[in-house]
Amino acid sequence: MPLNPGASVAVIGAGAAGLVAVRIFRDAGFRVTAFECSETVGGTWNYQDVANEPDLARAASRRLESTTTTETPSSEVFRQVPEQTTRLAALPPVQSSIYAGLRTNLPRQVMQFSDAPFPEHLPSFIGHRDVQRYMVDYARRHNLERHIRFGVWVQRVQPVSNDVWSRYLVTFSSSKSPEACTQAFDAVCVCNGHYSVPQIPAEPYSEPADGTEYIPGLTDGTFCPGVVRHSHYYRDAEKYRDLRVICLGAGPSGVDISLEIAEYARKPVYLSCRAVKQMPSDSATEQYGVLQVPRLVAVIGPRTVQLADGSILHDIDVIMLCTGYRYSFPFLTEACGISVTLQGRVVTPLYRHLIPVSRWTLPLIGIPYAVVPFPLFEFQARYVAAVFQGRVQLPEMNAMQAAILEEKQVQQSFGLQAKHFHRLGDRQWAYNRELADAVGVKGPTLAVQSVYNDAGTHRKLDPKHYREREYRIFGDGPEDWEVQSPAM
Ligand code: FAD
Repeated sequence: MPLNPGASVAVIGAGAAGLVAVRIFRDAGFRVTAFECSETVGGTWNYQDVANEPDLARAASRRLESTTTTETPSSEVFRQVPEQTTRLAALPPVQSSIYAGLRTNLPRQVMQFSDAPFPEHLPSFIGHRDVQRYMVDYARRHNLERHIRFGVWVQRVQPVSNDVWSRYLVTFSSSKSPEACTQAFDAVCVCNGHYSVPQIPAEPYSEPADGTEYIPGLTDGTFCPGVVRHSHYYRDAEKYRDLRVICLGAGPSGVDISLEIAEYARKPVYLSCRAVKQMPSDSATEQYGVLQVPRLVAVIGPRTVQLADGSILHDIDVIMLCTGYRYSFPFLTEACGISVTLQGRVVTPLYRHLIPVSRWTLPLIGIPYAVVPFPLFEFQARYVAAVFQGRVQLPEMNAMQAAILEEKQVQQSFGLQAKHFHRLGDRQWAYNRELADAVGVKGPTLAVQSVYNDAGTHRKLDPKHYREREYRIFGDGPEDWEVQSPAM
């Protein structure tokens, strides 16, 4: 049975996903309580300083020692919380992955929620503080803060029954009173983000899976006195002055961070990626002192690494892991029936990357990546609200499983590996349109899609200066936008 008007809905997290969910569920007539462990809205955009970026180079041996002495390992800052657990989840020390010099990699004109444009005076590519301010304004304008309990950490979510419409018991504690409290809700919406648990390609941090190889020697002390860091803790390029650095992973963060570091570090800064170059072209980075090299396969000695082509790099001071993040829901008990597989990369079984097949009142907003996040969160929240209200009928469980299988086959036909199941990329537009059509709201416009594509193309052509382009969107059609670009 769908939820009654006035049913209680808990939202975990008050980042972009949580905020839009609170707003839409509240406006749909539900009683919403959001739990946010920090003291403000914004999630990952709420910049946090990291005084001492943790060094992973000896982390594996430290973990082993501390396991035998039962003290809390210092490497626990990396939140090695089991994915499925019935104990209470611990509070992570650092949520945000935003670094000091970060500017958005999407133009604000495509990033925004449907009814909340960013201020017109801002450039297209804005600083992280502008995004954080936008979220604070969004929360105030829609009177959302009264629904959010700040400084409250959700530790456990337990279903009351096996029914797809089950209620849930939510256990939480607060910074003011650490004693855990439990409250029942008719539904729980998970919006806890997925950029705070680093993916570290080494034992014992991750189990082997599907094409992902460990890097021997990465965390067992072999690399010392060189240091190994993850981009989650990276804040300031100046700290790398005169050092020799190799960044691993040529996703948006790897490219951005290596270009930032190249302004201070010894040149070249190496950017190590898989055989198939993802982005951008060699020449596009080389002109700024970033040299793309094959995949790093092993740490073979102090400050020494080996690459996939057999070449060896000496005198490396820092290995910067830009290797991404793991999905993690340490508060979901086993009874919730949600697994995180393939090295923390796939959440299963989720219908439309959103609704657990057998738990319809436990949606997870924000799972897809390689997307424009805020609008996607908004479409997902509208869809979930309509499911709760009974305006959208979900198919039978078997049909949901079949839809997931079909989605996997489509992904494969696009050449995606199983571990990239939630990577939507170009398919995000069709995905958003399906959700929008199901609930009867306007889908993403072709103008937005074109601007997104244009920005992506120019990010590859000139990853350092593409942010100088200024976009204007004046309609919905594929031609209804213009761009002013400096001479590149
Ligand atoms: P988050 O922002 O992570 O919010 C999750 C919230 O949940 C946090 O506030 C956290 O404190 C809270 N929380 C977690 N667990 C609990 C718990 N158990 N109890 C209580 N509270 C909890 N997107 C763009 O659109 N443009 C960009 O240019 C862009 N650049 C990015 C650059 C970097 C380096 C990163 C990491 C991400 C970037 N993104 C960008 C993506 C960005 O993550 C999304 O835009 C979006 O902010 C994610 O929102 P979220 O609400 O899903 O997660």
